[in-house]
Amino acid sequence: RLRKRRLPSYAGLERFEIMEKLGDGAFSIVYKAKDNETGKLVAIKVVRKHEIDKHGQTQHLHPSMKKKTRATERATIMKEVQVMQSGKHKNLVQLLHFSESEDHYFLAMELCQGGELFHQIVKMTYFSEDLARHVIIQVAHGIRHLHEECGVVHRDIKPENILFEPIPIIPSKKIKNMFDEDKMDEGQFQPGIGGGGIGLVKIADFGLSKVIWDQSTQTPCGTVGYTAPEVVRDQRYSKSVDMWALGCVLYTMLCGFPPFYDESIPALTQKVAKGQYTFLSPWWDPISDAAKDLITHLLCVDADRRYTVDEVLRHPWITKQQQHFEPVP
Ligand code: ADP
Ligand code: MG
Repeated sequence: RLRKRRLPSYAGLERFEIMEKLGDGAFSIVYKAKDNETGKLVAIKVVRKHEIDKHGQTQHLHPSMKKKTRATERATIMKEVQVMQSGKHKNLVQLLHFSESEDHYFLAMELCQGGELFHQIVKMTYFSEDLARHVIIQVAHGIRHLHEECGVVHRDIKPENILFEPIPIIPSKKIKNMFDEDKMDEGQFQPGIGGGGIGLVKIADFGLSKVIWDQSTQTPCGTVGYTAPEVVRDQRYSKSVDMWALGCVLYTMLCGFPPFYDESIPALTQKVAKGQYTFLSPWWDPISDAAKDLITHLLCVDADRRYTVDEVLRHPWITKQQQHFEPVP
């Protein structure tokens, strides 16, 4: 009861009953909520119209900027909505309902009860190769759909934006194969992820995504015929940023720490620019050469030579001894 009291209520969001906070960012808060019309549980991203005050005036900005900022803010959120609506795929978080009030935008999405991949890595220290493969295949299929079917690049692929949707617990024999035996001995073994089993993995947060390819005209976005070569090329490069990020996610899942790290931001930037990372001993010693080979092709500084999503899905580490962890009916 007490907890419920502290939850905010938003004018314009009467259809949904807010239940608990799932996460937050700079301008948004995500809640678990009940859709009173369908009775179903959803996730609601509440985005503040932060630059606009109660009287429709833009705060902290020169008057000449007011109109532009309101339009830009609106365009940004509408793009996120548009991408989520166009990207119907089982590995992409689906938008269910969009509305807005004077002060907020509301994005009702399908709920991923299993939470962030980030939290699961922290909880388990690192993933077995089988479990990492299970996750990476699904993230790759989500990216493939975005790149090839929607003409969209995500641009913010990271463990915080990859979510688990739990399903019924997988039979223990199958789970056993997915986790390291020694971890089970240490008592770190947990039956399933996010409390509900290991199931679908979904890409969330399309706030930084960008439409790069017009599906209706089959051309790069922009004026046809006047498109500069670098824009056509940019299409390719922008896809490759998601592939680099996928490599970082895979690396992190397998060892529990990211490939590039430095307390000093300039030093970190240098390392990334040069692609300076190592398969640090002893953590990487037991990990297969196939996994390292795939990571090497993703964390490739030359974007032209970096693996595309189809190359990832064809890689031996992905296809070899691929196990299916189907939901239990
Ligand atoms: P931001 O742009 O602020 O990063 P996100 O869309 O990434 O917003 O949401 C922030 C956090 O809220 C996520 O990292 C995740 O923990 C949680 N979250 C977002 N969408 C969902 C969802 N559909 N189901 C469950 N949790 C979610
Ligand atoms: Mg996010």
